[in-house]
Amino acid sequence: MSTAPRPPLFPLFADLNGRRVLVVGGGSVARRKVEALLAAGGLVAVGAPTLETTLAGWVAAGRIEHRQGRFDPRWLDDAWLAVAATDDAAVNRAVVEAAGARRIWANAVDDAELSRFHMPARVERGSMQIAISSGGGAPMLARMVREQLERQFDESWGALAELLARQRMRIRARWPDLAARRAGIARLLAGPLPGLLRTRRTLAAERAFERALREPEGASLRGSVALVGAGPGDPGLLTLRALRVLNEADVILHDRLVSDEVLQLARRDAERIDVGKRDGDGGHTQDAINALLVAHARAGRRVVRLKGGDPMVFGRGGEELEALRAHAIDFEVVPGITAAVACAAYAGIPLTHREHAQSVRLVTAHGKASLDALDWASLAQERQTLAFYMGVAGIDRIRDQLVGHGRPASTPFAIIENGTRPQQRVVTGVLADLSALARSHSVQAPALLVIGEVAALALTLHWFGSEPLTGVSAGCSLAHAA
Ligand code: SAH
Repeated sequence: MSTAPRPPLFPLFADLNGRRVLVVGGGSVARRKVEALLAAGGLVAVGAPTLETTLAGWVAAGRIEHRQGRFDPRWLDDAWLAVAATDDAAVNRAVVEAAGARRIWANAVDDAELSRFHMPARVERGSMQIAISSGGGAPMLARMVREQLERQFDESWGALAELLARQRMRIRARWPDLAARRAGIARLLAGPLPGLLRTRRTLAAERAFERALREPEGASLRGSVALVGAGPGDPGLLTLRALRVLNEADVILHDRLVSDEVLQLARRDAERIDVGKRDGDGGHTQDAINALLVAHARAGRRVVRLKGGDPMVFGRGGEELEALRAHAIDFEVVPGITAAVACAAYAGIPLTHREHAQSVRLVTAHGKASLDALDWASLAQERQTLAFYMGVAGIDRIRDQLVGHGRPASTPFAIIENGTRPQQRVVTGVLADLSALARSHSVQAPALLVIGEVAALALTLHWFGSEPLTGVSAGCSLAHAA
């Protein structure tokens, strides 16, 4: 017998509102199907000798009807659709066959061969639904596709679909011609509207929509800026929102700290501008960066300002937002995982610990002046964890100040260099040896310095990359001397 391949399924979205649907089976599988059918407005009858508690509750509340007993084909009399959800294959087959005889579409749960219609995997955003099917042959694959789509479309797509549906007549009136309508909606979506919905500014979104309807065809788009945290380097630590925003960017202005792996996740045809400030080589000043942000947004582009870690932690994010507000440019902020949080986690260091530290301080150690301005007496107090950013050059001063203000020289520290990246190194020891160890292992930026009892836990809790370095490295100092 030749087994000709089955033709593909024909996708349908059925209007079940107010229509009778029969579900045969009274267990948890049946309950899940009933739930989905009720959400679509179906009038559900459940046929089974007994019902699990939730189903029984719905019957008691009048939400569904109960046909009691073993399957009886007469249950199908008023049904448009049937679902066989018992754990007895023979009963499921009897349901599908009796339904077929009446030309009623039937599904047998988990039996693709027997089913006359399939229930697809779904991604729902309000009235917008994406249905995924592998024809029943590879349900795991369909599920994986669903997971990818779930990540790709945030909740605001529901609000967007709702707005466009509500304004459908006005959209048609504004652009009677189909091609013009498509172009108009594309422009609408390229403007600030999606961002406004994403940031829950419903009124502003309505205004943006009204503006778009009034705009003449050739008018320039209104640009916007997303200030985005890229995290410490491992692209897996990017947030879903950061990923989505990067996918929509026209221009990306990034720092030197942003890893190549993260940049590779951005939209391919986005323009990339490296504004990383390098000491001495005349990199972009903060004013120049602000001016670039404003200019690109004014030109109607969706600008992503991408910064290492979190944009609001030692990232001058506040200054850039002030500049944008001063020029009335729309913006949103996507937080990122800051170096202290990420590096500590990847080094096996809990930043707080009931026995050792009740608070954490994020401190910038950039330049002598800023180090001298710190309140060392309070930084030297016990039972707190200090996380020094940009501290490589100031290590001697940090140690001298802390020990000078009473923190014991036996206090543990850990330096995490290139945290979360493949080349991560962790150097640990006690304050007394801080400078010697940092020098012997020639620690380079970017590195984070953690000081406090918790730092010693890196020795037992490390899990990422190579083991922590503890002693003075003979090899390294020799290499240095040479
Ligand atoms: N906004 C960033 C910090 C910028 S300041 C954030 O929230 O993380 C730059 C300093 O951050 C570096 O000098 C270093 O101390 C720290 N840093 C950033 N990424 C790091 C990494 N992957 N490993 C170690 N330190 C890092």
